[in-house]
Amino acid sequence: MSFFNKLVVSSIPLVPRPIVRRFAGRYIAGETLADAITCVRQINTEGACATLDVLGEDIFTKEEAVDSRNQSIEVLHTITKEKLDSNLSIKLTSLGLKLDKDFCTENVREILKVAAAQNIFVRFDMENSTCTTDTIDVFRVLHKDFPNTGIVLQAYLFRTEEDTRLLLKEKPNFRLCKGIYKESPDIAFQGREEVQQNFLKLLGMMFEQKAYVGIATHDSLLVDGAIAMIDKMGLKKTEYEFQMLLGVRPELRKKLVRDGHKLRLYVPFGEHWYGYSTRRFKENPEIAGYVFKALFTPNK
Ligand SMILES: Cc1cc2nc3c(=O)[nH]c(=O)nc-3n(C[C@H](O)[C@H](O)[C@H](O)COP(=O)(O)OP(=O)(O)OC[C@H]3O[C@@H](n4cnc5c(N)ncnc54)[C@H](O)[C@@H]3O)c2cc1C
Repeated sequence: MSFFNKLVVSSIPLVPRPIVRRFAGRYIAGETLADAITCVRQINTEGACATLDVLGEDIFTKEEAVDSRNQSIEVLHTITKEKLDSNLSIKLTSLGLKLDKDFCTENVREILKVAAAQNIFVRFDMENSTCTTDTIDVFRVLHKDFPNTGIVLQAYLFRTEEDTRLLLKEKPNFRLCKGIYKESPDIAFQGREEVQQNFLKLLGMMFEQKAYVGIATHDSLLVDGAIAMIDKMGLKKTEYEFQMLLGVRPELRKKLVRDGHKLRLYVPFGEHWYGYSTRRFKENPEIAGYVFKALFTPNK
């Protein structure tokens, strides 16, 4: 990211919230479940599927964690009722991971019981490195009882190769991404090329062991690298999927669908849009343009 864009991103806390909300709009379905339904319907019409995420991360009380659980359960019922082609993604910190790991495990179990009854897949998102071990632990406990679940691994972490080996024994369903959080050089690759190389190495390890992988990237080099690997290994379209974020490179997403690949879009929604949206801004090469456009375009 250029120095100018870094400056713009670091000034975002000073930008009035209604303005941030306007240029956050492309990355989130909206603030209500009704907004999310409309968005997923549109995505399904375009031949892609979705994974819904109720926005909300660190919470401070068990009541908030239970509230977050209930919102995810409501999403599951809605997916079934509205016949949406969608999974659910969850973040364990919003379900109490930092308060009490056992409590979090049982809280997630309640979600997974409903998901299993409705045959809906649930993905455990991966948060920053203070959560990696605990997220994997909770996942491994619950995956035994609920096989229709999967976990995210981040290619920027040194530890991920070892985590991949460990988890491959349990034949899980992976989402492989680069990783979005700022991590120290002691534990994570910092260079773009190193992360790309590790991503492709891990993808190869997963495919060789016949794991199903959600290839979560908008990076053309990685998309092309993954397709080359898929062709070389002769994988069927049912053995992997591509995954992208709402609002990012829609033209690439449509091309992958046209080429016959399964494509899943991550669709976040809810009141707690601020943290998620500002992480997206940090990755956006055009961020400065959007901020200025939002600042100087009058509200419609
Ligand atoms: C479905 C999905 C789920 C994810 N889940 C997790 C998770 O659980 N944990 C986690 O740590 N990370 C997660 N991520 C984020 C991921 O780790 C990366 O931070 C993110 O995808 C950017 O990396 P990239 O591979 O797309 O490459 P980049 O090099 O960042 O992007 C490639 C190109 O895409 C475009 N682009 C990328 N981001 C934006 C943006 N915000 N706005 C506009 N254009 C953009 C640009 O043209 C850029 O050059 C997820 C990503 C996806 C797609």
